[in-house]
Amino acid sequence: MNLRIPGPTPCPPEVLSALSTQMVDHRGPEFAAVLERVTAGLKRAFRTENDVLVLTCAGTGGLEAAVVNTLSPGERVLSVSIGEFGKRFAAIAETYGAEVTRLDFEYGQAADPGRLDEALTTDASLSAVLITHNETSTGVTNPLRELAEVVRRHGKLLLVDAVSSMASVPCDVDAWGLDVVVSGSQKGWMVPPGLAFVSMSPRAWRAHDRSRMPRFYLDTGKARESAAKGQTPWTPAVSLFYGMDVALEMLEQEGWESVFARHQCCADVARRGVRRLGLELFADPPFASNTVTTVRAPEGVSVADLRTALRERHEIVLAGGQGPMAGKVFRIGHLGLVTEAEVQAVIDALAVELPKLGFVPPVGIGSSPA
Ligand code: PLP
Repeated sequence: MNLRIPGPTPCPPEVLSALSTQMVDHRGPEFAAVLERVTAGLKRAFRTENDVLVLTCAGTGGLEAAVVNTLSPGERVLSVSIGEFGKRFAAIAETYGAEVTRLDFEYGQAADPGRLDEALTTDASLSAVLITHNETSTGVTNPLRELAEVVRRHGKLLLVDAVSSMASVPCDVDAWGLDVVVSGSQKGWMVPPGLAFVSMSPRAWRAHDRSRMPRFYLDTGKARESAAKGQTPWTPAVSLFYGMDVALEMLEQEGWESVFARHQCCADVARRGVRRLGLELFADPPFASNTVTTVRAPEGVSVADLRTALRERHEIVLAGGQGPMAGKVFRIGHLGLVTEAEVQAVIDALAVELPKLGFVPPVGIGSSPA
């Protein structure tokens, strides 16, 4: 199966085989060694000297950890949202009692640093900013470095959802001054779902000491204390740590710059192919994501039928739209273990199936090969 959704992503055979390693004592030396290697590899990937904690939970658990470990009920925070995952980050903060001000951008667009500057200038009582690096629901990558620069200038705490960007596109935690950064194992890391990675800057730890939100399982303070002993506070998903150990080695063997370049090439194949078919890309072109391509469903073509046709006749699995975009777009995932040929196979299958579903390309399209 050519699994082309934006996570979970396919796992390399080496990772699959590591996942079936026999259990060890999670309070013993073998696990301590794996935890140390994985943490060190993550720090290199995040490009940070900050602490990186590995939590056994979904990416959403990592986002919840970012919130409950740094904020307090009643605290005023700014949510910069460009899609469904931005909304989720805000909802978590609100659930725990933060006073959330929303700076929402139209779906398909990136966040504008100028408007962020305006929002922070207008309301000096805001103390933290929540931003999604790569909005998986719309296929847009925010200009995080520029947005972070604005947040730094205003001296606010910056919490970043890098669940679907880290390990696939550059995200320089220290150079860009990102305080809390979250990613998840089932995305660019090529490992099954179940681990979240959370980096915390010294500023974030100071916020942790002040923070009054309730927390227990996701307390990064407890995770840091345990990590110093080569352990996790609660029983970890041991097998996923084995998988991460191997995946990190493979990604570093390829080299991070080559990994980023491969994602860029795969995204180029997707975008070029989609346009040549006469379809319309959803994301604002300068901010189109290198990990997921969102395509507007052509007039009269059912996304559900298209996905079924690709699954049943081509063994290709695409993602549909989320929230208000359900039925209006489909998404091609190209992150983690992915080659240009696998993305081209999607384009070729679309070329075969779309006409059967009633798609007529605009005049002048269709003569050149996809
Ligand atoms: N944030 C982004 C940008 C995501 O793409 C996802 C998952 O698709 C999440 C958060 C949530 O991660 P999980 O589904 O592991 O909870």
